[in-house]
Amino acid sequence: MRKQARGSTIVFMSSAKDIIDHMSKRTKENEALIERAYSFAKKSHGDQKRFSGESYFESHVVEVAKNLAFLHMDAKTIAAGLLHDTVEDSNVSDEEILKEFGPEISFLVKGVTKLGKLKYHGVERHVESLRKFFIATGQDARVIIIKLADRLHNVSTLKHVPEAKRKRIALETLEIYAPIANRLGIGRIQGELEDYSFEYAYPKEFEQVKKLLKERATASELEAEKIKRSLRKELAISGIKNFKTDSRVKHLWSLYLKLKRHEMDIDKIYDLVALRIVVPTIEDCYRALGVIHKKWRPLPGRIKDYIALPKPNGYQSIHTTVFSGDGGTVEIQIRTKEMHEEAEFGIASHLGYKEVGKNKSKEEHMSKKLEWIQELTEWQKNVSKSGEFLEHLKTDFFKNRVFVFTPKGDVIELPEESSPIDFAYAIHSDVGNHVFGAKVNGKLVALNTKLKNADIVEIITKEGSKPSTKWLEFSKTAFARKQIKLHAQEGLANQFAKFLKGGS
Ligand code: MN
Repeated sequence: MRKQARGSTIVFMSSAKDIIDHMSKRTKENEALIERAYSFAKKSHGDQKRFSGESYFESHVVEVAKNLAFLHMDAKTIAAGLLHDTVEDSNVSDEEILKEFGPEISFLVKGVTKLGKLKYHGVERHVESLRKFFIATGQDARVIIIKLADRLHNVSTLKHVPEAKRKRIALETLEIYAPIANRLGIGRIQGELEDYSFEYAYPKEFEQVKKLLKERATASELEAEKIKRSLRKELAISGIKNFKTDSRVKHLWSLYLKLKRHEMDIDKIYDLVALRIVVPTIEDCYRALGVIHKKWRPLPGRIKDYIALPKPNGYQSIHTTVFSGDGGTVEIQIRTKEMHEEAEFGIASHLGYKEVGKNKSKEEHMSKKLEWIQELTEWQKNVSKSGEFLEHLKTDFFKNRVFVFTPKGDVIELPEESSPIDFAYAIHSDVGNHVFGAKVNGKLVALNTKLKNADIVEIITKEGSKPSTKWLEFSKTAFARKQIKLHAQEGLANQFAKFLKGGS
């Protein structure tokens, strides 16, 4: 995908065929859908331009759709990718998308538009609520895949973006998007999101790591190359057929994280270059490991069997590091073709197969993998340091929470069936105590309106407004209820005082 993103700086006229050519499931119907979405989006964006001065449609929208095709996503998701910015950036309405493309694509586009409203206010402040929001909105994982494909193209063209905005996007990508790609097991997107962002989020460190890698990588690559040649021979002798070998250089950001854990000492990094062996079966994996250890002595403590014990995001492989024979060491990763696909495309590879739907065992495997909320719950447990958040998880907040926006794009988390009153008190007790009215998604609503996920809520306050005990009928949060009761008591006390005064 990197090649595609870089290539986009060349001005050329694209066609729907450029996308269709990369699709994995090509049928007449699918192709017609892509053609239709292509023309619709092209017309909608007109002569809109990017920061780079290039056509918005040609240079961005088409590239996002291509990214989705590379991820083997289904035609509807690719179509939604073509339409992903039409509602936000041109004059197209939700209704038009629904009328033209039906409920499924409309749902996907709506989801992406809503995720696009997220704002990021700095490294610490909203990371947790943003991640939670992703979960709440991600009833359909395809929404998030589109958003990742969109973000990937945006960070690959960051050099054209004004400096202040550039840094924000880069940090946001490292804090929010890359961890989500990682949790979904889409290693390919994760690595690129991180490396493109690294340069702008931490320029000094980026240069330092780049220099370190440059000094070392060549020697390590040569070493890996040498091992690779004799390893291929050994594997063939052992009777393993149809294997593939290649090597990869560690991504800069993940190298940086590892260096930080080792006082920036590059000698402590064993997987700068890794040799990859892809074999047909799991048995072949263990056989290959035997072949390797017989020929090259392994480093103690560096053998990891992620086949028997997969990583939380589903990653499987056997890793071992061996002495190359002339002083150096090389990491070798052994996996099957399926495991390799999984490592590169993760959840996307399962979603892509959704259309086929014929292979029963594959489908069962998928539905197990697609326990989407479940997976993210596990992930949240892993990333969250706050005990309080774990408490929330235990009370199963996914079922009972909604996530809504302030007009500025901050995310506010509330219990299900919360009202604008709860929202107002969540902002500040002073706002809650002076509620006069409320707007949801730009329209005036009654104060007992039940808020839904991703609603944009605006509170209208008035100096003289006071809490009413009637509000208790539709307030859900403990804080709002406490404040309202407090005021009711104060109000009574005041009335009583007045009464006493009047009576005296
Ligand atoms: Mn976009």
